[in-house]
Amino acid sequence: MTAQLLDGVALGQKLRAGFKLKADELAAQGVRPGLAVILVGEDAASQIYVRNKVNACAQAGIHSERYAYALDVAPQVVFDKIAELNADPKIHGILVQLPLPKHFDADAVLEAIAPTKDVDGFRAENVGALMQGQPCFIPCTPYGAMKFFEDAGINLKGKEAVVVGRSNIVGKPMAMLLMHAGATVTVCHSQTRDLKAHCLRADILVAAIGKAKMISGDMIKPGAVVIDVGINRIQEGPDAGKLCGDVDFESAREVASFITPVPGGVGPMTITMLLANTLESAERAASA
Ligand code: NDP
Repeated sequence: MTAQLLDGVALGQKLRAGFKLKADELAAQGVRPGLAVILVGEDAASQIYVRNKVNACAQAGIHSERYAYALDVAPQVVFDKIAELNADPKIHGILVQLPLPKHFDADAVLEAIAPTKDVDGFRAENVGALMQGQPCFIPCTPYGAMKFFEDAGINLKGKEAVVVGRSNIVGKPMAMLLMHAGATVTVCHSQTRDLKAHCLRADILVAAIGKAKMISGDMIKPGAVVIDVGINRIQEGPDAGKLCGDVDFESAREVASFITPVPGGVGPMTITMLLANTLESAERAASA
């Protein structure tokens, strides 16, 4: 079997075409959707992510503002900017690009964002709302992964889903969304005994680990749907410098029924769902 590709670029484009119409509609009502992105430091990957987000906003008719600070900026400067943006009616979403430098309390920074503008869905009360099945904003990466299932007509009810990774931004919300959709969910992590045995039971396998090509084809149940969240840079060999996922794509695609590539899978969908959340926030502001 050669798996069918779940193409995040194509699905993202399909969804984003509708976003532009929605943004223009809202602008006609006097509310142009707006996103502010805060970046601290010079991390190359973060700079690329922020640039991609700002460009995606422009294409979707969403106003964006980018605030970049030096690595050694005093946290108070960032808190002050967040307070200003919380009160700014032109801004409907505030995103702080993670990771933050070590002298920041990242949780405190995220909690400083107004809940109504927390388009990443990372604030504790938004996490709680998601857990109760009444999300205010769904975290963008797992939200994007769920869109693949919806678009490909993959029914999750009663399926065995295994999520490898338990981070607050990917693994945990992913597990919650799969559970709400009717899957039976197992969450694996670095202390899991016999990861392979868990993976081999999965009808739906989500890898969010941060370890290049860790999930190989022999760990995948034939016919499984594989969502590869990982973004890793290959360190050595002929492909050094290129991006790869947490799944060994070449061996996995021979076993899976559907698979997301890296790059071009979950990454573009994460940005797409950030736009979706910003539009939703602007819509709420327009009808308030
Ligand atoms: P974290 O480092 O926060 O979490 C990684 C998780 O993987 C942890 O729960 C960890 O377990 C688990 N893990 C580590 N080693 C193993 C192992 N040997 N076996 C099983 N589990 C293991 O990463 P993130 O969740 O933030 O990100 C995961 C990946 O996804 C990264 O590559 C990141 O770059 C990528 N990413 C991609 C996005 C996209 O848009 N495509 C968006 C966000 C992230 P433990 O908790 O026990 O330490």
